Amino acid sequence: MTIKTHKYLLSEDQMPTNWYNIVADLPEPPPPPLHPGTHEPVGPDDLAPLFPMDLILQEVSTERYIPIPDEVQDIYRLWRPSPLYRAHRLEQALGTPARIYYKYEGVSPAGSHKPNTAVPQVYYNAKAGVKKLTTETGAGQWGTALAFASSLFGVECEVWQVGASYDAKPYRRTLIETFGGTVHRSPSRLTAAGRAFPEDHSGSLGIAISEAVEVAAQREDTKYALGSVLNHVLLHQTVIGEEALLQLEMAGEKGADLVIGCTGGGSNFGGLAFPFIREKLAGRQSPVIRAVEPASCPSLTRGEYRYDFGDTAGFTPLMKMHTLGHDFVPDRIHAGGLRYHGMAPLISHVYELGLMEAIAIEQTECFAAAIQFARTEGIVPAPEPTHALAAAMREALACKESGEEKVIITALCGHGLLDLAAYESYLGGQMVDSGLSDAELQAALAGVPTLA
Ligand SMILES: *Cc1c(COP(=O)(O)O)cnc(C)c1O
Repeated sequence: MTIKTHKYLLSEDQMPTNWYNIVADLPEPPPPPLHPGTHEPVGPDDLAPLFPMDLILQEVSTERYIPIPDEVQDIYRLWRPSPLYRAHRLEQALGTPARIYYKYEGVSPAGSHKPNTAVPQVYYNAKAGVKKLTTETGAGQWGTALAFASSLFGVECEVWQVGASYDAKPYRRTLIETFGGTVHRSPSRLTAAGRAFPEDHSGSLGIAISEAVEVAAQREDTKYALGSVLNHVLLHQTVIGEEALLQLEMAGEKGADLVIGCTGGGSNFGGLAFPFIREKLAGRQSPVIRAVEPASCPSLTRGEYRYDFGDTAGFTPLMKMHTLGHDFVPDRIHAGGLRYHGMAPLISHVYELGLMEAIAIEQTECFAAAIQFARTEGIVPAPEPTHALAAAMREALACKESGEEKVIITALCGHGLLDLAAYESYLGGQMVDSGLSDAELQAALAGVPTLA
């Protein structure tokens, strides 16, 4: 019997000591965010009520590498470096000559990639004397990560959880409370933004963001933290791709042919893909970079690239991004973390530059892929990365036809052990594909502001 290597593990001293800022290597800078009132580019001072200056400077930085503070590296070492797996048994089940690798972020305290940015965000806030952080959470992963990180730095953490997710995932709330956070169902009665909707509304990330921003803006000692979309969030997540590059090398690969990730706001995808895009721009490898989004929330594949608000109430700066409209309320699909109306401005820009591509997949295909993955690799994926797995399997089956031995790498950005209701629904034959009609899409896009 030949001995196969299933996982590639780095030692702690091989962990990246810098975050990678892709802006430094892009042929054109991304369009700036605009002030919601004046429509002029926002400056660092405009963002100061919501974020500490260290994070604002990262948000606008053009430096290629930004050092990871020692204290943050020390906390990362609780679960990093994360393993890279070769999916031998899945390959065998598919009968594919492709080599499938997955970078597993489910080993973190929250069970996803979110702590990679929660920890530095709370670190910089605590350093600036902030006492309390407010935030939204979709699937509950980000609320969990921020509550965990806040507990390490003695910062209070208040979370608005999207109604649909609050109702469907009671154990997520318990987990956030276990880490010391407070959770409200959004839309709540605590904010004007929440009171604009009926109390039993299923909610959206856009509404929950408005609520958290409204509360943070009112208090001097309180700031807001966002779990995706912004440049500094994608920056922090690049530890995923930096480690993955070293691990593929350990596995004896010259590079990847295809890099796949699911996109909600774009942070786990950007975190894995950006270091690969750097290698591609430098001519050292030439992978295809593919984002996968849910068919019911297709911001890259069916949204428009234009300035829109990041939240429903219109409190945030206008960001140039692929958007379905800030009023868009996606269907109650199980991948709660992918139910966001916009895409990170940086991902949108990279997409416009032609450095990556995007596809959308319906949820039943994703769960069929997840079941096959669980039964061969032994990990129950979170509903979000099932999209990336389904896309990886499509490609692996295409390789079976063509005989190509492609190297496919995907981000398995979280486990699904708190998402078993979704599996119950799939296994019980109750899961449906919702699709999204052009009429619904046009109605939501009608609310996007028109700039002079
Ligand atoms: C939050 C989350 C997502 C979506 O956010 P991105 O910023 O697009 O990564 C995807 N998967 C998991 C497991 C999440 O927790």
